[in-house]
Amino acid sequence: MVIKAPEGTRDLLPNEALFWERFKRTAADVFGRCGYVLIDTPIMEQTELFVRGIGEATDVVSKEMFTAISGENLKTLLEGGSIKAKSRLSLRPEGTAGVVRAVVQHDLVPLGAPPAKLMYAGPMFRAERPQKGRQRQFNQIGIECLGADDPAVDAEAIIMCMRFFEAVGIPRADMRLLLNSMGCEACRPAYRELVRSYMQQHAEQLCGTCMTRAEANPLRAFDCKNEACAAVMEDAPKITDHLCDDCRAHYARVKALLDGAGVGYIEDASLVRGLDYYTRTVFEVQVDNGMGSQNAIGGGGRYDKLAEEVGGRPTPGFGFALGYERCVLALQAAGMEFPEAQRCDLFVACVDDTTRTAAFELAQACRDAGFACQMDYQQRSLKSQFKLADKLHARYVAVLGPEELSCGVAKLRNMQSHEEQETLLAEVAARLA
Ligand code: AMP
Repeated sequence: MVIKAPEGTRDLLPNEALFWERFKRTAADVFGRCGYVLIDTPIMEQTELFVRGIGEATDVVSKEMFTAISGENLKTLLEGGSIKAKSRLSLRPEGTAGVVRAVVQHDLVPLGAPPAKLMYAGPMFRAERPQKGRQRQFNQIGIECLGADDPAVDAEAIIMCMRFFEAVGIPRADMRLLLNSMGCEACRPAYRELVRSYMQQHAEQLCGTCMTRAEANPLRAFDCKNEACAAVMEDAPKITDHLCDDCRAHYARVKALLDGAGVGYIEDASLVRGLDYYTRTVFEVQVDNGMGSQNAIGGGGRYDKLAEEVGGRPTPGFGFALGYERCVLALQAAGMEFPEAQRCDLFVACVDDTTRTAAFELAQACRDAGFACQMDYQQRSLKSQFKLADKLHARYVAVLGPEELSCGVAKLRNMQSHEEQETLLAEVAARLA
C-alpha cells in the first residue's frame, strides 16, 4: 500500500516550494521596510506556554493542540506513570506565544529599549477537521512588535499587512479589512458581564455551546457559526459603546492613522478573534472567493498582557499572522499559477556517445561560470534531447557531435530565435551572458 501524507497536511511540490520561498522573501522585504527582522523559534514548546498564553478555554488549546512526546515518555504515560511538566510538549498552534516567550527569555526588550520588531515564517499545527482552506499543518507568516503601546504600532502593522497582500498579488478590491477594539482589563470585564446577561435573556434562542461559552468566555459567542446564534448576537451590546476613555482614544488614533494612509476598513463590533490574549485593537482580512467560513487570510491585534502571562515584565505587544495556504487559494481564484521551479540557461546535447565526456565538461564549465545547465543521462536520441530542452525551457542548446568536437566547437542554438552559430567551446559561457 502506498503511504500518503497525513490527513490535513500537504506537500509543497517544487513549483510551489519556489513560490513559498518568494512569498517569504516578499514578506521580509515589505516588513523589513518597517524595521522587522527574522526570528526562528522551535516548532514545539512546553504545553504550559500555550495554556497560559493563548488561554485554556480557547478552542485552539482545549481541542486543537497536537502533543509532542518522546517514545520513552509515551511509554511512561501508557504505563500509568507521570512525566515532568517541562516534558509536556505541544506542536505550536500559532507563532505569537513562542516569540513572546523568546523575547522574555532573552530579554530582547530591556527597560527603556526601543520595541523589538520580529517576523517569523513557518508551519503551525492544529488538530482541526481538515477541509478546503483548513489544514492540520499550515504555514503562517507573522510579525510581533513588543515594547510599545503606541497606536502608531497598530496602524503601521495593519497597513504593512495590507501592503504585503497587495505585493503578492491579491487585488485590494477583493479584500475586506475588519477592525474592532476589544477594550482592556479596565473596561472589558464589565462589558463581558453585559454580554453574559444579554445571552442569558436570550438563552432559548442560543445553542448549547454558546450557553456553555456564556460561563467561561461569553465573547466567544460572537464567533458561533450557527445562524440563530449569529442573529441573536447581532443585537448584543457592542464593545465599542463600552470602551474606557484610554481604549476609546487608542482606537480613535488607530482609525485616524488608517484614514490618513487611505487604508479603508469596516468596523465590526462582533470581531473578537478566537484567542484570549487580545486587548484593544483587533483586525482581520477576509476575501470573497468561495472559501466559505475559511475566508480569513490574516488577522491579529494587540496583546498588552501576554508577556506577563508567560512570566515577563509588562511589555505591550501587537502582532498578526497570515495564512499562506489561504493566500494561495485567493491567488489561484484570481488566476495565479505557480512559477517554473527550474531555470535552464543551457542544455548540452550529444549527437552520440563519443561526445559525452566533452558535454559533461562543457556543462560543468558553464555552471562554474554561473549558468544553469542540464544534459541527458539516459542516452536519448538527439531529437528527444531537444524535446527535453524544450520542456526545461532551455534558453540555449549546445549540440556536440564528433565533427564539432574535433574542431573544438559546439553548435549553439538560441531556442527563442532558433538562430544557430558555431561557437568555440571556451566561448559558450560568454555567449550565454
Ligand atoms: P489565527 O492564528 O487563527 O488568527 O490565524 C491566522 C491566519 O492563519 C488565518 O487568517 C488563516 O489565514 C490562517 N489559518 C488559521 N488556521 C488555519 C488552518 N487550520 N489551515 C489553514 N490556514 C489557517
